[in-house]
Order: sequence, then structure tokens, then C-alpha cells
Amino acid sequence: MRTGWGSVSLLKKLDTENYNVVVVSPRNYFLFTPLLPSCTVGTIEHRSIMEPIRNFLRHKKAAVKYYEAEATKIDYEKRVVYINDDSEIKGDVSATEVPFDMLVIGVGAENATFGIPGVKEHGLFLKEVGDAQRIRNRIMDCCETATFKDQSPDEIKRLLHMVVVGGGPTGVEFAGELQDFFNSDLKKWLPEIKDTFKVTLVEALPNVLPMFSKQLIDYTEKTFKEETITIRTKTMVKKVTDKFIEAESTGPDGKKIVEQIPYGLLVWATGNALRPIVKDFINQIPAQKDSRRGLAVNEYLVVKGCENVWAVGDCAVANYAPTAQVASQEGAWLARMFNQMAKTHEIEAELAELSVKQEKAPGKDARDAVFADIKDLQKRLRRVKQIGPFEYTHQGSLAYIGSEKAVADIAWLSGNIASGGTLTYLFWRSAYISMCFSTRNRILVCVDWFKSKIFGRDVSRV
Ligand code: FAD
Ligand code: NAD
Repeated sequence: MRTGWGSVSLLKKLDTENYNVVVVSPRNYFLFTPLLPSCTVGTIEHRSIMEPIRNFLRHKKAAVKYYEAEATKIDYEKRVVYINDDSEIKGDVSATEVPFDMLVIGVGAENATFGIPGVKEHGLFLKEVGDAQRIRNRIMDCCETATFKDQSPDEIKRLLHMVVVGGGPTGVEFAGELQDFFNSDLKKWLPEIKDTFKVTLVEALPNVLPMFSKQLIDYTEKTFKEETITIRTKTMVKKVTDKFIEAESTGPDGKKIVEQIPYGLLVWATGNALRPIVKDFINQIPAQKDSRRGLAVNEYLVVKGCENVWAVGDCAVANYAPTAQVASQEGAWLARMFNQMAKTHEIEAELAELSVKQEKAPGKDARDAVFADIKDLQKRLRRVKQIGPFEYTHQGSLAYIGSEKAVADIAWLSGNIASGGTLTYLFWRSAYISMCFSTRNRILVCVDWFKSKIFGRDVSRV
């Protein structure tokens, strides 16, 4: 098990006294990713959306072992997971193995680059806390370097051009936060950059936010225009160097145009790719040979072709989008299933004991009494065994688009309500506050919102 959305929601609901639970993850905290884009500009401080896994595990009824390590390989034949301590401080032992009877894989996904040259070397991603910190520092570095004495106008323009590749929710939310940062803080602290600072969002498809309804896509594009964020749709980035991206688009005459777009900051948000450990596992299981986007699971989240191996979240393919909403529902469902399995074993053991007792019972009355107990237990067993397959309930999609506006497609009865604007932004805030992991997180996030409203965002570079 790991410490992401899927695994933590499983751990939350699992009766740990029934199992010997071991958690392996290089990240010793849970990260509330929906608010991560706000950390890139300091609207929220990153520690406010982190919850230490130790804090959470100590409240479980039975002890759960946690190893801060990366799982490097799963050997399905041997039923062993190899783990590696890749932190700075290493003891005498930094690589070992953990045997398992049952395994839940919830390692999430890594950033897709599609093998485009230069992306890994020059682009910044937005998935983890470290990514948000790197982006925050790079923004300030670009601004301070642009104001360096004797900088040429072309170089100033390049340094202050912030390019976001990928018009999915990650790219859109980040672009919105960045423009907010510029409008309410950077302009004030660095008035000399106010006419040159520019945010561009590049998307290969004809529109941004493809998972939202048409009216919300239009609303987002209109809001970006008002905020002076440039959207370049139908533009595919093909190459990245340290100072420019090479992008291909189609001109009005149908001819391909390749242009070089200079940038100071490049944030790459083009979705998910398989982690190496998942790729390796897929190669071990013949039934997974056609799996391209993740581990194929059945409706009980069992990895196809395996026994006693389940997968949840972004690393599993169950015909749902790779979102926190799906991962947490999968985790919670799996916990209920494991709890039921443990109860089933308990009742079956009790039934076996009662059958022996019934055989040995002296006289008919005693046998009848035991028989009544057996009937009761059998009824309970049937109830416990009644667990249907996993079914995802979509509650809706929400995204912040900047200038205190948000868009929401909310599932309502059997239809959908689409809304965008400032009221939706208030709804977005309250929804995410209520979804935060702990009361501590909720308070910290509210304090951060208040702080950045009153004092502005912090522009120091650390
Ligand atoms: P993760 O949450 O990514 O967790 C994976 C865990 O596995 C981590 O603890 C990681 O350290 C660990 N791990 C990785 N590799 C290994 C290894 N080799 N060995 C051991 N452990 C390992 N979804 C929404 O529904 N709503 C949103 O508003 C939203 N906003 C988002 C904003 C951003 C910026 C991002 C990046 C994503 C957002 N998502 C959102 C998507 C959501 O975060 C993911 O779908 C969700 O995190 C998937 O959960 P998971 O448990 O599969 O993986
Ligand atoms: P995504 O897959 O949703 O979007 C990536 C976009 O990048 C796509 O639209 C794609 O066309 C574009 N793209 C790919 N290659 C490109 C290239 N070379 N040049 C230009 N554009 C290119 O990715 P994401 O936004 O990182 O989201 C990942 C997952 O996390 C999704 O399932 C998303 O729903 C979820 N998420 C949800 C929220 C939210 O609900 N608010 C926020 C963030 C992420």
C-alpha cells in the first residue's frame, strides 16, 4: 500500500486488527492535490495540504507498519515486493524485501512527456510538493533576472513569458493562479514588469478542459481572454530547449506552421504515464499484455490475471478518469470488501466450531439449541457475503480558473448542472475545505487564504 488518495482512503476505512498491514511509500505524508496549484504562487503554503502518515496511522486500532521506501519491483511468483530507501540518510540496510499474501497497488502515475525531447531537462511538472516549490522559485527567479541591470528587451520578454503546456485541469488551474499572482502581487512589488509579464497556455486539442461541458469550456476561454492569458489551442509542442519550445499548428490554409516560442518558465501538464514498477508488473502477467494506460482490473478491482492483488487509483484502469474522486471511492470500497472478507472468515470459523459442538451435544434439546445458533450464523454469513462490485458515483468536476472564478459540472439527480463564476468559486472553496484530510488542514488552508488576501502572497525566493 502507498500513501496517495486511493491507499489512504482504504487505510482510513480498513479494520486493521484483522490484517497485518504494511504501508510502503517514499512520501511519508498524504497530499491534498486539488489545492496544489495554489501552492505554486503562495496562495496556500504546501504544509497546509500535507498530512503526515504517522499522525494518521497512530489512530488506527491495530499497529500498521510504515516503511519510507520506494517499491522497486513486485515479484508476483515469489509474492515479494522489493523496497529501497532512497532518502538522503541511509542505514546499514537500505534495500530489502517485504513478502505479501495480499497486495494493493496504489502507486499513482508519473508525468507524461511522450518522449518529447527536452521536456524532462527543461520543463517543470506539477504533481508533488517539490514541483510546486520549484515552480514558485522559478517564477521569482525569472522576475528578478528580468529586472537585472542592462538586461536586453528581448531577454526581458523571454524571461517574463510563462508557458503552460497542457490545457487539462492542471494546466488551466495553474495558469489561473499564476495570472492572479501577477495581478494582485507581482504588479505591485515589481511595477517594471507589468507590461511584459505574459502567461500562455498551449493545448494540442481544439479546446481546453475537454472533460467539462461546452458552455464551461467557452466560459473558461472567455475568462482567460479577459485575464489576458493567451490560449493557443490546436498547437502541439514537439521539442523543448532551455530557452524556447517548438510548437506545430495548422495555418488557415491548412499548412503546418512550426514556430519557436521563447519562455522563461515552462510548466508541463500533459497528463499521466505509467510508473516503471507498474510497467514491470504488467510484463510479468500474461493477462496484462494489452494494458497500456495502467493495470487492467475487474469490477472487484482485482488485477486481471492475478490472485490476491488489487489496484486502485491512477495506476489502475477501470474505465474511469484518473481522479482523486475515483481513487478515494475505490480505496473506500476495497476497505469495505476486506472488512467483509475478515468477517466471513470469522463466521466460517465459528460455524465449524458449532458443527463440532452440535455433533457432541448430549440429547435432542441441546442439539436443537446449537442448530438454531447455526441457522442465525448462516443468515449473517449470507448478509456479509453480499458485497456487490465496485461502482463509481460521479459527483461532478470542479476547477478554479483564476480571478476568483471557478467552473463546476455537478451531477444532480440523473442530470448535470453546469455553472461558472464567483458563486461557483465560493462553492469550490467550501467543497475543498470540507474535503481536506483533517481539521488541522482545514484551519491552515483558511488561515493561508486570509493571510494572502490581507498581506498579499510572499514573493521571496528560497
Ligand atoms: P497518488 O495520490 O499520486 O499517490 C501515489 C502514492 O504512491 C504516493 O504516496 C507516492 O509517493 C507513492 N508511490 C509512487 N511510486 C511508488 C513506488 N515505486 N513505491 C511506493 N510508493 C510509491 N483529482 C480530482 O478528483 N480533483 C481535483 O481537483 C484534482 N486536482 C489535481 C491537481 C493536481 C495538481 C494534480 C497533479 C492532480 C489532481 N487530481 C485531482 C488528480 C488526483 O490527484 C489523482 O487522480 C490522485 O492523486 C490519484 O490517487 P492515487 O492514490 O492513484 O495516486
Ligand atoms: P489531462 O490529461 O487532463 O490533460 C492534458 C492535456 O495536455 C490534454 O488536453 C492534451 O491534449 C494536452 N497535451 C498533451 N500533449 C501535448 C503537447 N505535446 N502539446 C500540447 N498539448 C498537449 O492532464 P492533467 O490536467 O494533468 O490531469 C490529469 C488527471 O488529473 C485528469 O484525470 C484530471 O481530470 C485530473 N485532475 C483533475 C483536476 C480537477 O478536477 N480540478 C485538477 C487537476 C487534475
